[in-house]
Amino acid sequence: MCTIDRVPIEEELQKLTTEDVFTAEITAKQTSEILHFAAKHLPKLEGIEHVKRILQHHNVSLEIARSPVPVKPPYTKEQFDEWKLIWPVSFRPLTKLRIELEDEDRRFIVKCLEEIKDAKMVVMAKHSEVIARARDGTAGGHPLKHAAMCCIALVADMEVERRRAGVLVPLKRPASPLPQDPEEREKSPQAMGYLCEGMDVFSTKEPCVMCCMALVHSRIGRLFFLEESKSGGISYYSMHSLKALNHHFTAYKCSM
Ligand SMILES: [Zn+2]
Repeated sequence: MCTIDRVPIEEELQKLTTEDVFTAEITAKQTSEILHFAAKHLPKLEGIEHVKRILQHHNVSLEIARSPVPVKPPYTKEQFDEWKLIWPVSFRPLTKLRIELEDEDRRFIVKCLEEIKDAKMVVMAKHSEVIARARDGTAGGHPLKHAAMCCIALVADMEVERRRAGVLVPLKRPASPLPQDPEEREKSPQAMGYLCEGMDVFSTKEPCVMCCMALVHSRIGRLFFLEESKSGGISYYSMHSLKALNHHFTAYKCSM
């Protein structure tokens, strides 16, 4: 039995934080008039657009007060159910999180996971085709030769070979616009993109921080790993989804 569970992104793990806003109590009858006035004359709720203007309750005393509201919008149903108790908020689940694996894709993933199981290795694939395989090389005395680093290095070597063979033209600056001719465009430096752009990475062990950063830099698309590490780049640092980083990928924790 194989399970493939998406690892939540940073936003989904966010705990409730609040900030105070000024609130004034109004009678129900005034609601539409005041909402109209607020839309016309008050500044927008910048940064807290998810916070609704109105909270309904029953004992009206017509006082101005400070009330806490959730700072961040809720990303999960659980967050929404908890946060709306503080103050009404709107809930729009991120469309990028609705990811279903298609049957054919799943079959390929399971095949790759079977290969790496117990092997301390990393396999990289693109469009359901394996591109590179590497094992952990730290036993040879080099502390940085983690399987993911070795696999990225292999892809880089292949890229160097491809360019040397004239398949692709090395990147020259400044970049010019993409050529019109499809064949020329394919070979153009601007079309080459990043080293592992959109690739699937299968790893026996959860990659460490160093390897995760290398995966971010090389722009992988998805990561599948079997053995979770509590101090790992994904489980501990959520490096697949950190807002501070300029690339994000989908991470899956799997078991066989
Ligand atoms: Zn590593």
